[in-house]
Amino acid sequence: MNIILLGPPGAGKGTQAQRLVDSYGLVQLSTGDMLRAAVKQGSDVGKRAKGFMDAGALVPDEVVIGIIAERIDEPDCANGFILDGFPRTVAQAEALDRMLEEKGLGLDAVIEMEVDDEALVERITGRFACASCGAGYHDKFQQPQKEGVCDKCGGTEFVRRADDNRETVVSRLKAYHEQTAPLLPYYRKRGKLKTVDGMASIDDVTRQVKEVLNNLAAAQ
Ligand code: ADP
Ligand code: AMP
Repeated sequence: MNIILLGPPGAGKGTQAQRLVDSYGLVQLSTGDMLRAAVKQGSDVGKRAKGFMDAGALVPDEVVIGIIAERIDEPDCANGFILDGFPRTVAQAEALDRMLEEKGLGLDAVIEMEVDDEALVERITGRFACASCGAGYHDKFQQPQKEGVCDKCGGTEFVRRADDNRETVVSRLKAYHEQTAPLLPYYRKRGKLKTVDGMASIDDVTRQVKEVLNNLAAAQ
């Protein structure tokens, strides 16, 4: 099964993707994570991307399309993947269509997570993650069971993203509405779009997403 999780920054794409990896054995392909890793390494891609990411703007299409094209070719993607944060422009969606066609692969569903802008600011500014395994948390909505200890790996160090601040969030939301929201009619027209209520609790969103995936599996 190959799916896209589509939604504004902070909608809960990464949170749900981590849960789907655990329960369906799919691979999570997060362009945000790949770009942050490239910035950390100081690679050419990282050097090109950093300024855009710090400003809350989208990284140029050709850079992001290049990293996804390489990643999708790796053998672990053959069992199915969840795209998280890609595509983010119509040009990226068209490039993805071409890539999948060349490989004889299909896209099963695009799951839109609908969340109000006001809720997104609170979600993004309260987000943190385990420094060892990357498990995601929130100051208010998803705290580790034992304070200061990661539920997944027992790690005790946590990190916050440099771009998760109020100023950058405004630019990121603007980029979403202007450049990414046009993907909703793009996929609706192709009969791929399924929408879930992303304002619900984390567990309830998981239930909704699984319902979509189970219905798809039953129809196949
Ligand atoms: P995205 O990957 O779409 O940018 P995340 O999955 O990282 O978003 O979620 C952003 C923050 O909001 C995280 O700190 C996460 O714990 C929290 N979060 C995710 N889904 C929900 C939800 N349904 N309700 C409340 N908080 C949530
Ligand atoms: P994310 O982790 O998905 O919130 O992405 C963090 C930042 O990485 C974004 O604000 C963009 O600067 C960049 N980015 C991630 N994915 C893409 C993409 N598909 N296209 C362009 N820029 C991206």
